[in-house]
Amino acid sequence: MALQIEDLGSRWETFFQEVKLQEIQLLTNNSIEFRIRFNDIQSWDPEFAKKILNQPKRTILTGKRILSQRCKENGLNIEPDILLEHLPPDVEEDLREIGSDDLNRLRCVNVVITKVSEIRPRIYEADWCCDSCNGHTVVTQENELELKEPLICSGCELPASGAGSTRFTLDSDRCTWINNQYLEIQELPERVKGSGQPSRGKVLIEGIQCNRFLPGERVTANLIPYTQAGYHRNRKSAMFEIVYSLHSAVRESTPFTDIQPSEEEKMEIKKVASRPDLMAIMQESIAPSIIDVTDKLKVVKRSLLMQLFGGVSRINADGTRNRGDIHILLMGDPGVAKSQLLTYMSKLAPRARFASGGNISAAGLTAAAIRDSFGDGRFTLEAGVLPLADLGIACIDEIDKISNEDKGSLHEAMEQQQISVSKGGITTQLRARCAVLSAANPTKGTFDVGPNQNLMYAFNQTGLPIPLATRFDIIWLMKDRVDEENDASIARHIMASRIKGVPESKVEENTFENPVTKDEEVVYKTNTNGKEYLSVPFLRKYIAYAKTNHSPILTDEAKSMILDYYKQARHSYGKDSEELSERRDEQPIPISARALESLIRLAEAHARMNLRDEVIGEDADMAIAIFRHWREEENVGSVAEMSTGSSHGPAQMNRIVMKIVKDIVSETGKDAMQNEIYSRALTMGIEDTIAIDSAIQRLSIDTQLLMSRPGQWRPF
Ligand code: ADP
Ligand code: MG
Repeated sequence: MALQIEDLGSRWETFFQEVKLQEIQLLTNNSIEFRIRFNDIQSWDPEFAKKILNQPKRTILTGKRILSQRCKENGLNIEPDILLEHLPPDVEEDLREIGSDDLNRLRCVNVVITKVSEIRPRIYEADWCCDSCNGHTVVTQENELELKEPLICSGCELPASGAGSTRFTLDSDRCTWINNQYLEIQELPERVKGSGQPSRGKVLIEGIQCNRFLPGERVTANLIPYTQAGYHRNRKSAMFEIVYSLHSAVRESTPFTDIQPSEEEKMEIKKVASRPDLMAIMQESIAPSIIDVTDKLKVVKRSLLMQLFGGVSRINADGTRNRGDIHILLMGDPGVAKSQLLTYMSKLAPRARFASGGNISAAGLTAAAIRDSFGDGRFTLEAGVLPLADLGIACIDEIDKISNEDKGSLHEAMEQQQISVSKGGITTQLRARCAVLSAANPTKGTFDVGPNQNLMYAFNQTGLPIPLATRFDIIWLMKDRVDEENDASIARHIMASRIKGVPESKVEENTFENPVTKDEEVVYKTNTNGKEYLSVPFLRKYIAYAKTNHSPILTDEAKSMILDYYKQARHSYGKDSEELSERRDEQPIPISARALESLIRLAEAHARMNLRDEVIGEDADMAIAIFRHWREEENVGSVAEMSTGSSHGPAQMNRIVMKIVKDIVSETGKDAMQNEIYSRALTMGIEDTIAIDSAIQRLSIDTQLLMSRPGQWRPF
């Protein structure tokens, strides 16, 4: 038999009695809310649970009444709100899917808050005083857009209109007031398929829920969609607008909850991580359609990779915070694929926002206070690009073209990773814990940098304020150099990849599968040069996995390596500046304490990529190599030296050889022969036998390998 509305009170009564007795006992005179996991109700009485989902307003209000009664019996004078949490998955929905079927039911959506309005009090129960008899009539106000008067006075029973009518005056002292506030919510950008606009919604929040949310925050919101009549020239129109009333919301506590690798995928991730050529394959996976003929582009891609993994953000004992995000600036001549790299990164990063300096929305990079965006004259705070990219990457193209106000606020946003707003009567702080990847063009068409002039000289030509340069961990200068050989291979590559690409019109007509989404199950792909790389969906899972499971800490070895480099770089800067003080442009780029932090972040990111919980010498090596490259220090060596492939760093070679020996011994049960080691290394693309020999030597001196017989090895 269906549950009748009249039964609801007794259902709540029994529910509180049987399931929640203890929790109710814990309420105090300060309690304003009573949280209930929905599952508690569902497992107790599924039908009652269904009733709540289908008629939430009424049922929850009844529940509140019953609860308040109970509290009174316990001697508490409170009326706590009932907040249902963790709704079942079948009421979870995408914002864009919500329509007439969902009206007035409880629904659950994952959204990001983009705007928050000022608070305004509104009358919940209006108390009207009759002008003729002074009697009071109470009218509940359900619609926040109009104030309803009584039709007749409850005292003298005179009507409000017609013959012998009376008039009513609002007695505001006796009215029940409630705070109310509007939010604008937006679908999560990563859920939006294709190039569609994320859908938006207007949310009314009331009472204790007010002022709990900030723009830029991601929440799982339990909402009740309802309709509001639209207005046309101050008259109601037949078109209705869906508005949401917020029941409860849980702030997202851990990032990447939407990317959860399965057990098999976790195995695959670990397998990829243990490949000795991990760096090479990862590097290939960053924008495979952009060919890295120059060494520089290789290192640029590598630094972008490090940005994806990021260092570890830490909160210190004194409450200060060290960011883990790596900020990168790509300065470059037009047409060197900066925008392409940025677009690619914004698609690849598990959570990213793309904006182009020239046409950023009114909210800009940080936040804006706008009047009247909800149509009733309130101030609203709208989040800009950086708060919306919280815990992700903000890709800002053409950063040289952003407004001066934004340039000023970028400092705080990039270092403290928060944005202080004090606009239109709203004073607050928004969180912007994102990595910034930006691209800058020169003001004069191309960069005019002589061979002896340093990067800062080029930076000046972007027109960006100088202090901003120190906020970037890495600044690349990408010159469009004419080089026949490189040009030819880029041209060949562009030709090849254009032919491989699927025509967009065909994707839109659904005749071809979209090359991006069809990779959902694929791990490896091959590019036009026949090199392997990781598919975007897999790489995203890899990154999410590494970031959630590994927060590496520095070992003493890595610490001392980074410190040595820092001291030496600082020393050479100090020395040169004395000698070259009159030729300022030719000085090496100054290195400050910030650089130390950047190096640590890069090393941490590399350790993370290797799914390690410790930052070892190898990680420090990589961080220093990237650093020396962007700073254009002399004798940095070629990328090959810092990369996998033909020549590895000694620490890496040790690891590779050790792994090979262990593999052979465990597979064959015999000791590893020198030749076998060579041939296995060859399958990994390592031809350099001398490097292998010296690794073996180092390992045996280190007593990690033992020579059982000449030319035969086993782990010690
Ligand atoms: P920018 O933003 O630096 O001015 P774009 O990202 O708009 O340049 O790139 C211009 C075009 O040149 C793009 O279509 C890009 O694919 C192509 N291009 C430039 N360099 C390369 C490269 N190394 N490999 C592949 N394509 C490239
Ligand atoms: Mg561009």
